Amino acid sequence: MSFSRFSALDLILNRTGYDLEYVDQPSETISNYFGCNVFGDTPMKEYLDETTYINVKATIQQGAKLSRELADDVAVAMKNWAMDKGATHYAHWFQPLTGKTAEKHDSFFTLSNDGNPIEEFGGKELAQQEPDGSSFPGGGLRSTFEARGYTAWDPSSPAFILEVGEGRTLCIPTIFVTYSGEALDYKLPLLKSQAFIEDASIPVCHFFDKEVNKVSCTLGWEQEYFLVDEALYIARPDLMVCGRTLLGKHAAKGQQLEDHYFGTIPERVYTYMRDLENECHKLGIPVRTRHNEVAPGQYELAPMFEEVNVAVDHNSLLMDLMDRVARRHRLRVLLHEKPFAGVNGSGKHNNWSLSTNTGVNLLSPGKNPGKNLRFLTFFVNTCRAVFEYADLLRASVASAANDHRLGANEAPPAIVSIYVGEAMTKVFNNILAGNTDTEGVKKVLDLLSKVPNLELDNTDRNRTSPFAFTGNKFEIRMVGSNQNCAGPMTVMNTIVGMQLKSFYKEVNDHISKGETQDEAILAVLKQYITECTPILFEGDGYSEEWRNEAAKRGLSNHPNTPDALGAYIAPNVEKAFEQSGVLSRVELHAHYDVKVHNYILNLQIESRTLAEICFNQIIPAAIAYQNELLINIERLKNLDFSDVHTASQMDIVKRISENLLGMKSSIEKMREERIMANAKDTSIDMAKAYCHNVKPHMDKIRLHADRLEYLIDDKLWPLVKYRELMFIR
Ligand code: ADP
Ligand code: MG
Repeated sequence: MSFSRFSALDLILNRTGYDLEYVDQPSETISNYFGCNVFGDTPMKEYLDETTYINVKATIQQGAKLSRELADDVAVAMKNWAMDKGATHYAHWFQPLTGKTAEKHDSFFTLSNDGNPIEEFGGKELAQQEPDGSSFPGGGLRSTFEARGYTAWDPSSPAFILEVGEGRTLCIPTIFVTYSGEALDYKLPLLKSQAFIEDASIPVCHFFDKEVNKVSCTLGWEQEYFLVDEALYIARPDLMVCGRTLLGKHAAKGQQLEDHYFGTIPERVYTYMRDLENECHKLGIPVRTRHNEVAPGQYELAPMFEEVNVAVDHNSLLMDLMDRVARRHRLRVLLHEKPFAGVNGSGKHNNWSLSTNTGVNLLSPGKNPGKNLRFLTFFVNTCRAVFEYADLLRASVASAANDHRLGANEAPPAIVSIYVGEAMTKVFNNILAGNTDTEGVKKVLDLLSKVPNLELDNTDRNRTSPFAFTGNKFEIRMVGSNQNCAGPMTVMNTIVGMQLKSFYKEVNDHISKGETQDEAILAVLKQYITECTPILFEGDGYSEEWRNEAAKRGLSNHPNTPDALGAYIAPNVEKAFEQSGVLSRVELHAHYDVKVHNYILNLQIESRTLAEICFNQIIPAAIAYQNELLINIERLKNLDFSDVHTASQMDIVKRISENLLGMKSSIEKMREERIMANAKDTSIDMAKAYCHNVKPHMDKIRLHADRLEYLIDDKLWPLVKYRELMFIR
């Protein structure tokens, strides 16, 4: 017997409580065990001698390479610490272009030259590994004969111990590269982009403060997700295989009543959240916020912001933990961008800012108005960068799954615009109206100082904007819940870095013509504000008017991935990545190929799964019910009932037939389109064919399936229904 909706519901109804034996909440306060499984400062101090500790710290802070000797010392310290905590294995932990995390475990245990069993781990093992990994996507960077990929230690992100059941593994964050050093992962380009924006920002900071010698990007993500009962999940092949429901009639009640948002958290979910937070805290992930989201069964979790590379690692690790912990609670976490039609999908807002070693958030207007020119510089440059590279930013969040979300009147539209808020709009208008000679600068600065404290004003929110200023940071709302934050963050760092480089040069050009520094800065900012005006939008991003208005302003609108991805390899983007040193042309094209290919595979899998569900589950159920009706009609007729008495049954029989026919013919057409798509010469043409020719049939099939779900006897319907998936908690 297949595991159907009914076995699932039975199982849930007959469960006596949930198996929560794993949930041993530490009785201590969080700050006592926070980071206990991280090889951070305290264990480093404890397990390294003092001089080595100081040397290692200094080297890591400078971003320099550790000598072999130091690496050996660190390795031994890490091993001792990890073994004291019960670890038996170590793993290089990395983020290949699948967007997920990967790890290959090796034991500390080995045999010495004379055959004696020992526990060993040295600088060599710490620094580099060759996990082969030829099955990871490489976008043609590796031909199969030299398919080896290498992982190399990234000392900027601390090692940690992953606890899985009784097992303990020391995980070492690494980058993943080809033999010749090309990035096969998300991490290396991110690290390069951080170095680049730092290099671009420091000279600009020196206009205002010569003490600045380090600038880092900060990221605070907000992770949305759904939870469903494990039994229901297993009874839905589409959820299991594709992570989303490919069909399913909307429940009469969805999110209309808005009674879920910020509502009380159901106890079972609350237990899950606490268990998850506990795991996060042990691993040094500073999660703080939890709440219900808009859709039934949807939740959110957010940490304190951190330096971007660490925040990215933490988000990737979190996504693994979410899945692992959910299984303990007989739940499954859905990270897909759009698990259910008809209710909100899930995003991952990326809050991005820049901060200095002097403790300044460069995007915070602060309380001292005299400092506003520095804030304004970074603020306007960010807007100008997003204006110039809007298509790239859109491309960086493009995926088959996120296509269901962007522009669907619940998530930001696929048109990139910037919301700066009322206060900043005033500031911009003041600058545009003012002169940039000495008197003008004075006046403008005077006006700026009268703008109310922006930090207090960040209640001024516009949820429909894809890119919004929220008082002391920009919030990128287009990122998908399942995506690796590194992609869009690498883009942000690179484009703002490029922009700051131009800014620095232009300001100096003005200065060399005899202008004062303030005059020069304000003149360039004024020019930038004028240039990026088309992308500034304070209104309703969901409205039809905005779509028309955006088109008039010449902004692009790429509602689907194959169209959006073109921006990745546009000449200005190639140039930006190459000049910044973040991605070579070859790497960029490889990453692009991986994205295109992922899109194709995603649609291929979905389309096949959909056809299978129709043939294996829906068509048989429809026929069974039709037969019941036909028997009934025949029996009534045998008893000389007239057509009036069998008319409604006949009507349902007919409607079932029509939908079966429509479904069957759409499945056939979908298959034919798939064959034609697969025969395309280039992968981008193939992706476009999947998008424009295959996908529309999936929508038609779903329409028929959902009508059948409406018509057919509930006790014959084999697929778990929307109301069950969303409301059983
Ligand atoms: P919401 O946007 O839901 O109202 P908040 O504004 O409180 O939530 O914060 C959302 C996220 O913004 C949090 O993850 C927080 O850490 C992050 N954040 C706050 N300040 C910064 C900053 N300077 N840089 C990056 N992220 C930040
Ligand atoms: Mg937010």
